[in-house]
Amino acid sequence: MPDTLVAVGGGRICDLGKWVAHRLGTRLVAVPTTLSSDAFSTGYSVLWDGERNTPVRTKPPDVIVGDYDILIHEPKRFVLAGLGDMMSKVTALFDWRLAFWLAGERYSDYGGANIARSTVDLLTRRLENIAKMNYNGIETLFLSEVTDGYLMEISGTTRVAAGSEHLFAFALENMGAEGMHGGEFCALGTVLMSYLQDQEGMCVPSSRGLACRSPQRPWA
Ligand SMILES: [Zn+2]
Repeated sequence: MPDTLVAVGGGRICDLGKWVAHRLGTRLVAVPTTLSSDAFSTGYSVLWDGERNTPVRTKPPDVIVGDYDILIHEPKRFVLAGLGDMMSKVTALFDWRLAFWLAGERYSDYGGANIARSTVDLLTRRLENIAKMNYNGIETLFLSEVTDGYLMEISGTTRVAAGSEHLFAFALENMGAEGMHGGEFCALGTVLMSYLQDQEGMCVPSSRGLACRSPQRPWA
């Protein structure tokens, strides 16, 4: 039996590769060809169980190969979906705090939360490069997705990168919503959940344009 499996492709291929490598006990090399999600780096796979997409614990890859010559030429929509998946941390970290206060779940700022926050800051500062899909933007998105795998391992939970916005995305997919990538559903979920969480700086469309919440002028 081979001792190493190589998964080359998008999120679904990498999710499947992690599951097979986990079941066979082999090493796994992940070679993502798109950045539409962090699937190539985490120790969890979102798999169809016959009725719905469910995240299951599998294994993180032993090696990740990022070929920027390939990634820089992927369709822009994949890049935007990946950005949506990464920005989910804005609401996921809020939910993690809530889970600590309301349900006594284990939480530690040093267990990944601080790194997750700084990842969001970096992505925000380099949004223009990501939108242009230049080397700096693609590298920033790739490394932030690689970091997700580490964050989940050192935190011992997916909460560091996935919260209610991911549940919203899974629910839409399970209801048969089509035509959008998982990361795009996550982006939509992040906007909605930010609103429900009453997050500072949050903007929502209103009849008079964008309404943004700030400490000085709530929903000005
Ligand atoms: Zn995700």
